Amino acid sequence: MKIALLSGKGGAGKTFLAVNLAYCARRHEQSAAYIDCDVEEPNGHLFFPFPVKERETVFTLIPSFNKEKCTSCRACADFCKFNALVFIKKTPMLLAEMCHACGGCSLVCPEKAITEAKRPIGMIETRQYENLSCYSGILNIGEASGIKIIQSLLQKDGGDFSVIDCPPGCACSVMESIEDADLCILIAEPTAFGLHNLNMVYELTAIMKKKTAVIINKEQSTPYEPLTNFCRQHNLPILAKIPFDRELGQTLSEGTAAYGTNKKFSSLTDNIYAQIKAMS
Ligand code: SF4
Ligand code: SF4
Repeated sequence: MKIALLSGKGGAGKTFLAVNLAYCARRHEQSAAYIDCDVEEPNGHLFFPFPVKERETVFTLIPSFNKEKCTSCRACADFCKFNALVFIKKTPMLLAEMCHACGGCSLVCPEKAITEAKRPIGMIETRQYENLSCYSGILNIGEASGIKIIQSLLQKDGGDFSVIDCPPGCACSVMESIEDADLCILIAEPTAFGLHNLNMVYELTAIMKKKTAVIINKEQSTPYEPLTNFCRQHNLPILAKIPFDRELGQTLSEGTAAYGTNKKFSSLTDNIYAQIKAMS
């Protein structure tokens, strides 16, 4: 089973919950995985203090020009919507960091003067703790798109239960991360801003026709009713309301998983896991 955790912004608690769900799943399943698709700023590995077992470079394909065949017709540059192709003295030149590797320019070239070449854009690190795998995607600084790394991450062996930690927001990198997810869990904070963010990611999962549930994090003593009303209106099950807790916050800041050490939080996570399994 693949579950994806999303939130409209960073800091809602997505990574902390994803990591702890992965630790919880390894207790109940033969094998489990945590997959960090937040490739621009991966930090889930901080909760897996184990040596890197494998480092794998991820490549993208960029256009390479055959000057002998090129007639300077400019069809390639006219096609590129990312302005990654410029002409210098009638010769096409690539601004590699702006290329989104769509392959379109090579398709439109009437002279077949463009082939594709490999260019490294980042890497995947694999860590292993008994039956739990941790995969972290790392995009090189300055690169325009981490989609290729996310695609490579999602081809990894996720075992019986994989937890996908999505990038924040709802850009194309998030769409790619949830593409094959069996269940999307939206992490929401009980504030007006939190509700706005929840609505954003909910619209995305609705468009993609994904089975969706919500976890409310940092719940205050007085519940924020508009958030629960929103979930009711859209038939979104609330799997848990995690209270604002300084002890949990401290555990997070120390880079320690709370599952297995914090009794109350462990049973809450077990309960979330049981509900996820019941929804499958
Ligand atoms: S592969 Fe796509 S994004 Fe890259 S230069 Fe060609 S048209 Fe532009
Ligand atoms: S489309 Fe092909 S022939 Fe035309 S400028 Fe680009 S590389 Fe040259």
